[in-house]
Amino acid sequence: MSEYFNVSDIFGENVFNDAVMQERLPKKVYKKMKEIIQAGGELDLATADVVAHEMKEWAIEKGATHYTHWFQPLTGVTAEKHDSFITAPMPTGKVLMSFSGKELIKGEPDASSFPSGGLRATFEARGYTAWDCTSPAFVRQDAAGATLCIPTAFCSYTGEALDQKTPLLRSMEAINEQALRLLRLFGNTTSKKVTPSVGAEQEYFIVDRNKYLQRKDLIFTGRTLFGAMPPKGQEMDDHYFGAIRERIAAYMRDVNKELWKLGVSAKTQHNEVAPAQHEIAPIYAECNIAVDHNHLIMETLKKVAGRHGLQCLLHEKPFAGVNGSGKHNNWSLTTDDGINLLEPGSTPHENIQFLLVLTCILKAVDEHAVLLRASAADVGNEHRLGANEAPPAILSVFLGEQLGDVVAQLISTGTATHSIKREMLETGVKTLPDFRKDATDRNRTSPFAFTGNKFEFRMAGSQASVAPSNVILNTIVAEAFCEACDILEQAEEFNEAVHDLIKQYAVEHQRIIFNGDGYSDEWVEEAKRRGLANVKSMVDAICAYTAPESIKAFEKFSVFTQTELESRVEIEYETYAKTINIEAKAMIDIAGKQIIPSVIKFTTALAASVNSVKAAVSDADVSVQAGLLKEVSALLAETKTALEQLIQAEAKGKEMEEGKDRAVYYRDVVKTAMEALRAPVDKLEMVVDKDMWPMPSYGDLIFEV
Ligand code: ADP
Ligand code: MG
Repeated sequence: MSEYFNVSDIFGENVFNDAVMQERLPKKVYKKMKEIIQAGGELDLATADVVAHEMKEWAIEKGATHYTHWFQPLTGVTAEKHDSFITAPMPTGKVLMSFSGKELIKGEPDASSFPSGGLRATFEARGYTAWDCTSPAFVRQDAAGATLCIPTAFCSYTGEALDQKTPLLRSMEAINEQALRLLRLFGNTTSKKVTPSVGAEQEYFIVDRNKYLQRKDLIFTGRTLFGAMPPKGQEMDDHYFGAIRERIAAYMRDVNKELWKLGVSAKTQHNEVAPAQHEIAPIYAECNIAVDHNHLIMETLKKVAGRHGLQCLLHEKPFAGVNGSGKHNNWSLTTDDGINLLEPGSTPHENIQFLLVLTCILKAVDEHAVLLRASAADVGNEHRLGANEAPPAILSVFLGEQLGDVVAQLISTGTATHSIKREMLETGVKTLPDFRKDATDRNRTSPFAFTGNKFEFRMAGSQASVAPSNVILNTIVAEAFCEACDILEQAEEFNEAVHDLIKQYAVEHQRIIFNGDGYSDEWVEEAKRRGLANVKSMVDAICAYTAPESIKAFEKFSVFTQTELESRVEIEYETYAKTINIEAKAMIDIAGKQIIPSVIKFTTALAASVNSVKAAVSDADVSVQAGLLKEVSALLAETKTALEQLIQAEAKGKEMEEGKDRAVYYRDVVKTAMEALRAPVDKLEMVVDKDMWPMPSYGDLIFEV
């Protein structure tokens, strides 16, 4: 039954990658492309024409009939408009297949229906997609046929970014420039480029598709809006890293195969904490490619699930009371000649360049903590960050024992003189190998943790793009590097100046370091004493984009203009209100059309039972039926009242003007009304005959995949 394959044979087979370009493009054109990819620069139309022609020929060999500019508007998902390669029919009745350089580098989708946050009125519909040649084109093969996908950026007629990619590319340029300045100060004259490396670990849930189709809440909102907890949750920890069931394993295998063909280096997979929850992680790549690949991973997870009779849920909190899903964004800085700026070496106290990089990052995260938190603002993530589930919404940095100690030495004496050594791990079993442990244990509770040679930002939501987090990380770290370089380039005595600066940053920003349990109540108290922000709601976090210090940083490095930032904040408020509105409407629909009628059927059966038992045995004890009937009727009445209140709340919200007030209203009024409706319904689920309950339960969904 199984079809076996050799990974190295299929890896990247559908990608127009370096090897394909080298093989197919004329030498001169290949060299030019390579130059632009590595160092940037203008692509002339003649070169673009040759590349486009070869790309088309190659794609047609893979069965492609269409091409698309694949882009990432502010909807959170990717978008594409397909054009076929055919040209006007020839007199012979045949058609030619063509694809010009112009079509490759520039597209013009009608932009009026994408969120712009007021950047563009609907009548100004022009929007352009521009080829991001640093992320390779690929052919996607599926039931819809084969399509040549060209990763692009998406801008308005006046050049404002309407997408996630444009600011990402701008932020990559910013950090490249500033990191190179820093390297030059330390005598590095050989590295030509510094790129953020990103590895995004993706969590997801898998449920049975037939059961999914019986849940309107999952269909419309991606999460369950009702649902009582099953007898067993995740308390036994038996799912985490557990053996992967065959049905899921077969699915994962298919996902991997698809991803490998697309050149996505899917590497790690395992069961996650919650039942039916899993994780997939690729090997890290250059920031923009990693973001593109994360989109491909999400799309592939969803698409392949259907083929296996499964449904993939990427929502951050599909099931209340069950662990939700996030995305861990691993981030470091790598030079073109292979140096990782976040590699501390075995004696970090002597690695001055690393200590400067590290303390700059501490400074950046401390100064822009709320902005970084806002990068994880996503409606679904609201149920995780600072809500019912860890992690908290407080940003702090975990350094671990070794680096924590080095920084503590810097703070107390101004100089670090030693590094804690990595110890041998002794198992006490002769046949097991002894090996050196990592310098630091892990801390899974930290939102921003140093993990050996990279930082892991753990606040991002599972369904959202990681572009915003990386845009912000790149920009704020570029800003810190820039300030440090401004000082150090002027210094008379470099060694002394850098030593002083490292100490100064460590002292000034030590409050952001926290190595303890980030999930504890004590930390919330302690963070408050330290003056660290704890912004629980997305609605309160998103204005961080337009805080004066954010505007200053973004404008300084031309990542965002103030207008672009304002438009993004508008979009976030709108998205929030719209999403909650859809959830409210779904609840109204389900409660009115499915739950209340089912409960009425149940009470009718109960009442009939009371009467018929009484008729048969006049002195029969029907207190159980009667008691249950009373209990269910009371809950039914509560449900009906709550439903009416939600209907009213929703109607009022719809009338409000778009903007922050409306978002606040949806959070404070509509969400509260939703919770009030959910409470009696979940109680009803526990007492109503399972055969009469109109949808699969949590237990059915997460334990029976
Ligand atoms: P863990 O989270 O358990 O430490 P890994 O070390 O395997 O797991 O890394 C998780 C993710 O981090 C993977 O996507 C991996 O490729 C990525 N990663 C590893 N090293 C780096 C690095 N230097 N920069 C960015 N990402 C990295
Ligand atoms: Mg990890």
